[in-house]
Amino acid sequence: MTIKIHRGTHQIGGCVTEYEQDGWKLFVDYGEELPGGPKTGDLQVEGLTKGDLSKSALLITHYHGDHIGSIPKLPKDLPIYMGALGRDIQTILSEHLKTVRPEHEAMLERLKSVKTFKAGKTFTFGPFTIMPVTVDHSAFDAYAFKITAKGASVYHTGDFRMHGFRSSKMDKLLRVYVGQVDYVVCESTNVSRPNATSKTEAELKQEFYNLFKKKGGYVVYLSSTNIDRLFALYHAALEAHRPFYVDCYQKKVMDAIVNSDSIWTKSGLYQYCKYPPTPLMCDRDDKKKPFKVNDEFIEFLNKMGYVIIARANERFDKLMTQIPGENVKILSMWKDYVKESSPAYNKDLAKSVGKNFLPMHTSGHIDMKDMREFLSILNPKGVIPIHTDNPEQFAKEFGDEWTVYLLEDGDSISV
Ligand SMILES: [Zn+2]
Ligand SMILES: [Zn+2]
Repeated sequence: MTIKIHRGTHQIGGCVTEYEQDGWKLFVDYGEELPGGPKTGDLQVEGLTKGDLSKSALLITHYHGDHIGSIPKLPKDLPIYMGALGRDIQTILSEHLKTVRPEHEAMLERLKSVKTFKAGKTFTFGPFTIMPVTVDHSAFDAYAFKITAKGASVYHTGDFRMHGFRSSKMDKLLRVYVGQVDYVVCESTNVSRPNATSKTEAELKQEFYNLFKKKGGYVVYLSSTNIDRLFALYHAALEAHRPFYVDCYQKKVMDAIVNSDSIWTKSGLYQYCKYPPTPLMCDRDDKKKPFKVNDEFIEFLNKMGYVIIARANERFDKLMTQIPGENVKILSMWKDYVKESSPAYNKDLAKSVGKNFLPMHTSGHIDMKDMREFLSILNPKGVIPIHTDNPEQFAKEFGDEWTVYLLEDGDSISV
């Protein structure tokens, strides 16, 4: 088998990996490059973007834009596979965004022909056997893949972490579903962000609860598809007896999780308790009109306090001016989005969140302490870092125990 990294050896967004055996090609991820990062533009790849596609397929690890965002650009007859719930969440997101970002119309069209796989159930494509392994990440229904062909095996990690709610199962999943592999193609986002994972998702949930217990209004900005964080906030709010408000779109995302048959949703974390999230009142026919705010609503907020899941837009900005008292704004996202000097700076978010906010966040990616434990379980012959801006640092950290291959975009190795 040959592994070729088309993109992602020296950048975090837009990784594209190819596995080739006897002329058959299995690609993993085809997403957008991140704003502010290096740009290589549209790739030209034989068997993926052009040429003979009869022996090609694409696997998507998860719905983050840097992994799936460019699939509408791919030829229609290329088969694409992803998790069923991930496809549903991307569909809800694209439906929501299509009025402001027309490229989501094309995404919706392409998603219709995306095939799905199931966690822990192997499937084959040409000479490849593929085992999708469910992983914990800030996107729900995210996967790693064990890819085997002619006796060689590779574990492609996708984005993952070991400090989330579902990470305690990781060790067992790896031992049961993966076992030993020859090579690991490994996400290494946090190699240059050592402080990104200072707490676990469970510790963060406890901090939300401790805060919400103090009576008041709380407005939280987070990614609408960061499912674990959303449900942590929901349960923390209800346990602290604060009503929990979302807009109709956010409710739809949460409903999709609650009503799915994902193996994870048996856990109480992904279920509603007595009071489901309350949708903010709005005009059914025009979702862009301001939320409806009446005296009764204001009185209830005054009496009970509240947790509102907000997004950076005028609708929410207006709502903030109508609801009573001083509220506490919480940024539950990477702080660089509101740092003016950062390439990831988001002007709209910075405007909505303002200057006085509480940062309450932990990374969706594995830290380097957990990375050592993870690699020890699989104990591969070689590791290829991708999804990183500093693979050299990764080699410094782990080169003592494992052979780390530092590739350039377009390089390949035979395994
Ligand atoms: Zn991701
Ligand atoms: Zn990513």
